Amino acid sequence: MAYFVSAFYYFTPVENPEALKPELEALAKKLNLCGLVILGKEGINSTLAAPSKENLEELKNWVRTTFQKPDLLFKDSQCEKAPFNRFSVKVRTEIVTLKTPELTPDMRSNHHLSPEEWNQMMKEEGVLLIDTRNWYEYNIGTFKGAVNPNIDQFTEFPEWLEKQNYDKKNKMLIFCTGGIRCEKGILELQRKGYENVYQLEGGILNYLEKKPHDQYEGECFVFDHRVAVDQDLKPSARYKLCPHCGQPAETKIECGRCDTEAFVCVDCLKKAFKAETCSKNCAYHFERFPGKKGQRQFLEKANRD
Ligand SMILES: [Zn+2]
Ligand SMILES: [Zn+2]
Repeated sequence: MAYFVSAFYYFTPVENPEALKPELEALAKKLNLCGLVILGKEGINSTLAAPSKENLEELKNWVRTTFQKPDLLFKDSQCEKAPFNRFSVKVRTEIVTLKTPELTPDMRSNHHLSPEEWNQMMKEEGVLLIDTRNWYEYNIGTFKGAVNPNIDQFTEFPEWLEKQNYDKKNKMLIFCTGGIRCEKGILELQRKGYENVYQLEGGILNYLEKKPHDQYEGECFVFDHRVAVDQDLKPSARYKLCPHCGQPAETKIECGRCDTEAFVCVDCLKKAFKAETCSKNCAYHFERFPGKKGQRQFLEKANRD
């Protein structure tokens, strides 16, 4: 079975986001969609998957019509297994969290660079190229020469940048997975006095669609079952989610307690009871009794006899 996946967002005033919820849920039922939609008074942010190209197209048309944006950018990819367990709509104050609901991006502004413009500008002298994503997203793939802020979440980004003492006139190129984090990030940076900041339009997903195997290296973390997509936007064959912490993991282990196969991340590999177990549950028991399931009861019984 093939799934047609699309990621998109649009900042636009939505008077009553709650009212769109039942309409979207009915549409999702009709089109067999799975994924997540975040609605707010500032717009829509979503990654969705449909079981056919036609169904995905119908969804896109609904979005284009409802939000009166015929040329909205959709970042498409495909996969074999459903990337989400179900469909859900959430209504939130911010459609991407920067804890600055007062900042509403204007998507018509001229600080967006196409993948072509991006490739040119990143080669200019003195340009700072900054990855706004989390440290584990950076670790599995990023642009050649990109700075890693090493943050745990996006809300830490503006503060991190202030600490670097970069010249506020310096040309800065910032990027994220699909572009939405940078939309808000740029406004916050402008408010802090940075005058020369540009963002990659549509983020890494749009870049890889147009320029695979070019200036981006490695894979791109995504927030669904695929864990990451490769240069050709195919689901990662390399990474699974670590059962202990939810970060990308590439080291295969066999559980010391129940023999189930799992992938454990580099951090959790440093802790013995996590390095050798397949789940939080097995780790919990393994820490107290590092042996196979059932063995403990067996030994206790042997000691009693
Ligand atoms: Zn882990
Ligand atoms: Zn286990």
